[in-house]
Amino acid sequence: MHILLVEDEKKVASFIQRGLEAEHYTIDVAYDGETGLTQVFDGDYDLLILDVMLPKRDGLSVLQEVRRHKLNLPVLLLTARDTVADKVAGLDRGADDYLTKPFAFEELLARVRALLRRGAPMPAPVLTLTNLHLDLVTRQVTRAGKRIDLTAKEFALLEFFLRHPGRVLSRTLIAQHVWGVDFDTFTNVIDVYVNYLRKKIDTDFEPKLLHTVRGAGYVLKVPEI
Ligand code: CA
Repeated sequence: MHILLVEDEKKVASFIQRGLEAEHYTIDVAYDGETGLTQVFDGDYDLLILDVMLPKRDGLSVLQEVRRHKLNLPVLLLTARDTVADKVAGLDRGADDYLTKPFAFEELLARVRALLRRGAPMPAPVLTLTNLHLDLVTRQVTRAGKRIDLTAKEFALLEFFLRHPGRVLSRTLIAQHVWGVDFDTFTNVIDVYVNYLRKKIDTDFEPKLLHTVRGAGYVLKVPEI
């Protein structure tokens, strides 16, 4: 496992480096943001440990640049500033975890281990039921390889069904989760939308997936033969 540490405080850097080397990790160290950024792109690292306060280029800006090119590289931010705003800024820019200085080496090690375990490529976030696929990132829906265009509400409704396949969802539950409303007079709207959705995902395809359960609600499932 190959780790890059970007940290300008020599003492902290060597403390982390020696500790991680004792755990048989291979560590490279950069002492400013610019050098760190160059090294990220030159090397093949499994993890980046990045200080926020750095000379030449600060950690958050390094992180932003890293994320534009290396989506899957796990990043652990080291921050001396224990404010909520800094943590949020770091996580917003794509940090996977952060550690506030001063920290115990054991805590750093635990987080490094967790991030390296997580570093395996994430499966694409696609919800699937038989030949129906909904991609949460590209927001594309296909059935049997054919693209299906949905409105934002239809998409949200289908996503809700696909997250609960085989489960009967009442109109009240759908109203709460998809529309964020909580009254029964809304149920007609849901019936209308379910029909729109059914036309788009079921009419031209087999098997039919979206079923009405009389008196109870709707269920998305592959019918039993
Ligand atoms: Ca620093």
